[in-house]
Amino acid sequence: MKNVAVIGAGTMGNGIAHVFAQKGYQVALIDVASQSLEKGLNTIGKNLDRQVKKEIITAADKEATLERITTFTQLEEGVREAGLVVEAATENIDLKLQIFADLEKHCAPDTLLASNTSSISITQLAQVTSKPEKVIGMHFMNPVPLMTLVEVISGQNSSQETIDTVESLTQKIDKTAVHAKDYPGFIANRILMPMINEAIETLFQGIGSIEGIDAIMKGGMRHPMGPLQLADFIGLDVCLSILNVLYDGFKNPKYAPSPLLVNMVNSGLLGVKSKAGFYLYEDPKNPIVNPSVKI
Ligand code: NAD
Repeated sequence: MKNVAVIGAGTMGNGIAHVFAQKGYQVALIDVASQSLEKGLNTIGKNLDRQVKKEIITAADKEATLERITTFTQLEEGVREAGLVVEAATENIDLKLQIFADLEKHCAPDTLLASNTSSISITQLAQVTSKPEKVIGMHFMNPVPLMTLVEVISGQNSSQETIDTVESLTQKIDKTAVHAKDYPGFIANRILMPMINEAIETLFQGIGSIEGIDAIMKGGMRHPMGPLQLADFIGLDVCLSILNVLYDGFKNPKYAPSPLLVNMVNSGLLGVKSKAGFYLYEDPKNPIVNPSVKI
């Protein structure tokens, strides 16, 4: 397999394109928004520059990596040659069902279809295709070029061959595959999101401040980033949508999103991507507590 198509050039998609291209794959990066493609390529360039500066790769490696990435705004043009498609578009079930139905029409019959979804059922996505055995979850972690884990999720119908091929591809891009079954939140978000939600509830109930909650989890639990800052980094809208999937999927009130999270998303505070969440990111390297988070 030499050709990979990545759908969505946002936070995750540009990172996924980066790692495949760096390992020698021809990458088609597809996004409906041409400004997302521009921004995505720009981010890949900056991240490669950082790797050059740290002497992880050479300047020639950087150029070769960028040359292996071609951008498309039309899905049908980008996926034709792909042996693997990794869908990393916005976390929205209807959008993803439409993308998987379109992939069915435009990919070669043996193309493997992976979703980077954080929480949507792989089994459900597979049902809109005629080859559910070729559909799988490939859940990369953010930031993709740095994080070495990929949660590989088998849907009810994913074949063992599909699982084996995707796990071996994961190794080829120097990442470790860990298998999870297709239940809400899989493993990573089933554990992470309730922790983030509880941190937001702790803030909502006035038990601690933004810095205090994050400082306790960093200093006390050795977490490299506090849960509120991590939520900003993931995207508060993404956190909310994953919690809703857990809540709906298990019908258990323990997963109900904190009202503070809901209010923040509704008011446009989405975290790093909107430059404001629990922290302000005018200077992304020096976030400061956002005084406008009202409880
Ligand atoms: P994002 O909002 O940064 O990017 C999504 C991109 O998808 C945007 O550029 C948008 O223009 C594009 N898009 C929307 N509809 C499209 C379509 N029909 N065809 C092609 N492109 C389309 O989102 P993200 O944070 O990169 O998340 C992408 C996926 O990765 C989601 O499923 C999310 O759950 C998952 N994920 C996110 C994180 C994280 O930390 N952000 C971590 C792991 C997995």
